[in-house]
Amino acid sequence: MRRQRNAKIIATVGPASDSPEMLAALFDAGIDVFRLNFSHGSHDNHARVHQALRQLEQQIGRPIGILADLQGPKLRVGRFASDRTELVSGQPFGFDLSDTPGDNNRVQLPHPEIFAALTPGSSLLVNDGKIRLKVLSCDHSSAQTEVMVGGEISNNKGVNVPDAYLPISPLTDKDREDLAFALSLGIDWVAMSFVQRAEDMEEGRALVGGQAALMAKLEKPSAIKHLDGIVQASDAIMVARGDLGVEMPQEKVPVIQKRIIKACREAGKPVVVATQMLESMIHSPVPTRAESSDVATAVYDSADAVMLSAETAAGDYPIEAATAMNRVINEVEKDPLYKQMIDASIPAPGNTVADAICSSLHHVASVLPVAATFTYTESGFSSFRAARERPEAPVIGCTPNIATARKLAIVWGVHAVVSESMSDVDTMVQNAIEISLQGGFGELGDIIAITAGIPFGRTGTTNMLRLTRLKRFEDAVT
Ligand code: PGA
Ligand code: MN
Repeated sequence: MRRQRNAKIIATVGPASDSPEMLAALFDAGIDVFRLNFSHGSHDNHARVHQALRQLEQQIGRPIGILADLQGPKLRVGRFASDRTELVSGQPFGFDLSDTPGDNNRVQLPHPEIFAALTPGSSLLVNDGKIRLKVLSCDHSSAQTEVMVGGEISNNKGVNVPDAYLPISPLTDKDREDLAFALSLGIDWVAMSFVQRAEDMEEGRALVGGQAALMAKLEKPSAIKHLDGIVQASDAIMVARGDLGVEMPQEKVPVIQKRIIKACREAGKPVVVATQMLESMIHSPVPTRAESSDVATAVYDSADAVMLSAETAAGDYPIEAATAMNRVINEVEKDPLYKQMIDASIPAPGNTVADAICSSLHHVASVLPVAATFTYTESGFSSFRAARERPEAPVIGCTPNIATARKLAIVWGVHAVVSESMSDVDTMVQNAIEISLQGGFGELGDIIAITAGIPFGRTGTTNMLRLTRLKRFEDAVT
């Protein structure tokens, strides 16, 4: 079964969607990549979902991407003697390292790195930013604050420190265990949360060791400050609007979203727009008009993928949410204005043979009716570069490597196909013709473009562009 759209859909798996039947129904509704959220769920459960998805992949004969999302250094307050307390604006409140249960005057904050990074005037946010406090004074083990916006604070609520750089590893002990487990399953993408700078990605990459591709979740002001470096150090980026909207003023999120998409398009790195996309569908079978419009905006801006979180993980209408997203994308991609906007977003080619070839695909497609572009690839590199050009016809990522095919599930416009290793150009051309005719990527007489690196089997060597007409297998001499 072939998808007809360019933008991809990621669904988060959770109690509302983790049965084999629901996973299959979500795939049918349009999900391309499934996200295992390691902030929730047991290893056993993630393993069961992983196995069900690999079985589904076998049944349908199409690669499915699996993304393991690590919780990252989520900071939390300690516990309260009476489980909770109400803070009112203007009152003083303290944080310290003591594990004595908290009250209305103070609570434990068991993170010495936070105290080291605070200065008078810093903000502390608690409970998804609902409570705001301003630091009046602080030392290496405590901070006195004034409550700026009050509310209920209870056991182990999350803490955000928006304006400080925290000298903490982006991977906690739990993340390291979860990562080793996810890699042992054989997932395709790893997402790192609360990344602050490019070096964080290098730390992650050393642990991943080439066993999966690496995505950075941008959800902290310091990540936005180091945007270009993080994009360079990552294989893909997620605009993690949930925490981003807590750590920064809400009104900055849409602006930053466009900036991140542009930086990723420039670099040719896939970019995912995430969180609250169809939030109301957690409890409603239809989205709000604003939500449909939000999904459409990401697609017009040429994001590679849009993501569903609680809508599919814990909502009442997971299939309806996937269907709604699929419909909005299809509608946008039919719009002539969409093509204009996509064309306007294409970055200049890099100064390489691969980019020279990929960018010429546009010229070729303006002269000839090209039905599809085939990229023969080991690592996925040529498919990434071809997708960066946002060609009108689908990009077929042909690879002997199933891990590459699964990784490509997240990339704009790419249809991944597992094919045998190519040894010569004639076999490759015949293979592309067969896939086109069998997969419905063109009809007899249509023209297809094929890119590859010669000699075969070496990565990052895209150096050939071949145009051929679709002929029957036995007639396909050239
Ligand atoms: P989360 O990340 O769902 O793991 O918090 C996404 C976000 O913050 O938007
Ligand atoms: Mn987050």
